Amino acid sequence: NVQGYLEAFKDGVVQPNRAAIDSVHEEVVLLSQLVNDLQELATADAGELKLVIQPEEISLVINRTVSATKAQANAKGLSVVTELPDGLPFCAIDSHRINQVLHNLLDNAVAHTPSGGAITVSAIRQDKWVEVAVSDTGEGIPPNELPNIFERFYRVDKSRARATGGHGLGLTIARRLVEAHGGKIEARSEPGKGSRFHFTVPVADDRSHDAVQID
Ligand code: ADP
Repeated sequence: NVQGYLEAFKDGVVQPNRAAIDSVHEEVVLLSQLVNDLQELATADAGELKLVIQPEEISLVINRTVSATKAQANAKGLSVVTELPDGLPFCAIDSHRINQVLHNLLDNAVAHTPSGGAITVSAIRQDKWVEVAVSDTGEGIPPNELPNIFERFYRVDKSRARATGGHGLGLTIARRLVEAHGGKIEARSEPGKGSRFHFTVPVADDRSHDAVQID
């Protein structure tokens, strides 16, 4: 698309009008996202993902990420609710990476939930883990597709790549990041009713620990 448009501009076949420039720009943004995602996966494949693990207040990390995506959800006519019990423990995480995971799940929930729907972000302590969940009332995922969604480049509705954004790498990266923390990420879904993605992060042993870098 980018090459085609640029060649057409060069040859004078198409005038570089607003619509054409917007289209090229949209493609470049997607391409640059793809390059970043591939680089991240290559780093993970090479075992070179570096995490800076330190005790973090998980409810703060969740609230920060939710606030950053709320406007986008509200603009689409979706409500976003957080359900965080008091006294959630500190967790041993790289907060930037967990933010990235949560951001991805929220972006997906927004993309796959029609206007008027609801997104709920919740967290609950389970022994030495905190489980964080993002639920939506969206289109859901057919049972036969569900086992594949964490595979690289997998998209349920291939024809809607443009409308819903990504390249099918978001959940692959999210899984790698959660597993790098020792946790697990899973999805449940009922077509037509909605989806629930949940992942676990470890509770920190001791708040006073210094940052640890994991290579
Ligand atoms: P993409 O870049 O396509 O968003 P992801 O790896 O994040 O890639 O997701 C893979 C596929 O899983 C998506 O293309 C979509 O079909 C499906 N999916 C992910 N999250 C949801 C959701 N909340 N509701 C419905 N389908 C979803």
